[in-house]
Amino acid sequence: MRDDESSNTSVRNNEKCPTRRQIIKAIGAGVVFATIGDSFTVAEVSANAQVAESTSSAGVVKPVITPRATAFNLADVRLLDGPFRQAQELDARYLLELEPDRMLHNFRLNAGLTSKAPVYGGWESKEPWVEIRCHGHTLGHYLTACSLMFAATADERFKHRSDYIVRELRDCQQAGKSGLVCAFPDGAAPLNEIREAKRFVGVPWYTMHKIMAGLRDAYLYSDNRSALAVLVKLSDWAIAHTTDLSDDQFQRMLNTEHGGMNEVLADVYALTNQPRFLKLAERFCHRAVLEPLAQSRDTLDGLHSNTQIPKVIGFNRLYELTGKTEYNAASNFFWRAVVDNRTFVTGGNADREHFFPPKDFLQHLDSAKTMETCCTHNMLKLTKMLFARDPSVIYADYCERALYNSILASQDPDSGMMTYFQPTRPGYLKLYCTPTDSFWCCTGTGMENHAKHGESIYFHNASELYINLFISSTLTWKDKGLKITQTTRFPEQEKTRLQITAAEPVVLCLKVRHPSWCRAVTIKVNGHRFLTSRQPGTYVELSRTWRDGDTIEAQLPMRLHTEPLPGHANVVAIMYGPIVLAGRLGRKGLVPGSDIIVNERTYGDVFNDHVDVPVLVGEASKLVKQIKRSKGAALSFHTSGIGQAHDVNLMPYYRIAHERYNLYWKVRSVDV
Ligand SMILES: [Zn+2]
Repeated sequence: MRDDESSNTSVRNNEKCPTRRQIIKAIGAGVVFATIGDSFTVAEVSANAQVAESTSSAGVVKPVITPRATAFNLADVRLLDGPFRQAQELDARYLLELEPDRMLHNFRLNAGLTSKAPVYGGWESKEPWVEIRCHGHTLGHYLTACSLMFAATADERFKHRSDYIVRELRDCQQAGKSGLVCAFPDGAAPLNEIREAKRFVGVPWYTMHKIMAGLRDAYLYSDNRSALAVLVKLSDWAIAHTTDLSDDQFQRMLNTEHGGMNEVLADVYALTNQPRFLKLAERFCHRAVLEPLAQSRDTLDGLHSNTQIPKVIGFNRLYELTGKTEYNAASNFFWRAVVDNRTFVTGGNADREHFFPPKDFLQHLDSAKTMETCCTHNMLKLTKMLFARDPSVIYADYCERALYNSILASQDPDSGMMTYFQPTRPGYLKLYCTPTDSFWCCTGTGMENHAKHGESIYFHNASELYINLFISSTLTWKDKGLKITQTTRFPEQEKTRLQITAAEPVVLCLKVRHPSWCRAVTIKVNGHRFLTSRQPGTYVELSRTWRDGDTIEAQLPMRLHTEPLPGHANVVAIMYGPIVLAGRLGRKGLVPGSDIIVNERTYGDVFNDHVDVPVLVGEASKLVKQIKRSKGAALSFHTSGIGQAHDVNLMPYYRIAHERYNLYWKVRSVDV
């Protein structure tokens, strides 16, 4: 099956190879929002995503489905001071502390090369995780994270790291000769065993997906052409490795978690225009999950959440590239099934990593293993893809909620380390990974999370600019000769301000999100009241000729409100605007540093001291009247006379750390 000489010309031959710019222009929405947006144009914005003719330019595939809005290149958005910038800086610090040679240890050994540094601990080498076969997943996440961070900050240190790893993987691939690069301690054995359906444990394709995604992102975000060449050879190895499997055998192999193999192979197809990669991407579509979803049947109860979400991201990507409606139906239905019926107030989902029947929310509330952070990472990725096709506020609302209440919330503000679960168990706490002895899945996605906030704020098409999130940042829209500076201390401040810098006047429709949590948004243009929108969940459209120095100010009044646990009107979370408030329940049993743990499996087995969690007494719908602002720190509140046995102080969940908390409150009627 390998056909390197004839088929990879467009990748390896620089003369014939299109520039990265041309590739970015041609490949469309799905590969990476951040790299494609600045060159995307839409002649017409229609009510529905248009099915355009599929054409291919030299070496790349144009998507069949035209996106209605795309994000900007990550390099065109810079974060300014605020919680997201702080999170990005903490993440950057951690990335620079890690040593690539330690992540490359097993890759080099497998290729017959000598190691340059000892392997890291945790999932990378130690018991009890050897059996899950995640060795090397960290390198893949790290390669993605450094490439993203380079695009997001222009800090060359990240490009050097990304380039170094790609060079090393290329050397390993050349030395190993087969095309495979991997870090399993027993080389290709796990991939052979899973192909042959031998008894084994572990998730080798899941791990390979991370390595392949890292190579893709090094190519797309940090312009490393060699990364694509290594990726193509690795993808060809995957074809050769699976070519003799019947469809039934292949589907049986897919019963084991395999990450987003269908997505990354679809991207390889999009980047090379080689149909063999599309064929393999479609073989990696797990029919047992795809078919019911495409028929709008929710069969998710009991399934492993973070196994399914990446599959659906792949379905969605394949819809963009092929136009096949089952992929579209499955991804739309899945998103609604998860967000509408299976999601906690923070945007997280699942317990012990598995979807449970929505009627059982209450019994899962006591778990210390709810809301795995990877699940939210991947739901956000899917959400942004769906927004591109259907730019609706529901998707942007979910992004905002999940970014503050799950993603910002997942990072230790002191060490920069990441949560695995975010426990809903009353009185429990956030536990974080160690820097070099854990390397959980959520450590890997956690490295990526804070490098890519810039791709969630603004979206555009030829004539419209979407302001989706209220995050201090600058946007440079080169094609329009436009720069937008957004200044805000949101959510501590209930407004945001946009200033336009433009060489020439620009005709543009600015679409400012009117969030569902806000009753009325008032817009001022150049200091004068312009309009008030009273339609939450829509965009405020500001169409005019914008000139240098123009300003737009949006007032976004926030209010306290409650949100019930799905199906349980008398168990509520308390929110202020989009921000989930957590009750502060002290530090019993904690000493500094004790919430940094090696082993994610110990969530719930430790820190089980008894903690009194108040019940709130009153009518659920009127509780917020008894919640007052506290003096001192911004966004701090307290209950007043409704807490039994005592009132409680509240603060944003995303800020709570090294402290026990409660998210959902049982409400008891006064009469009982
Ligand atoms: Zn995870």
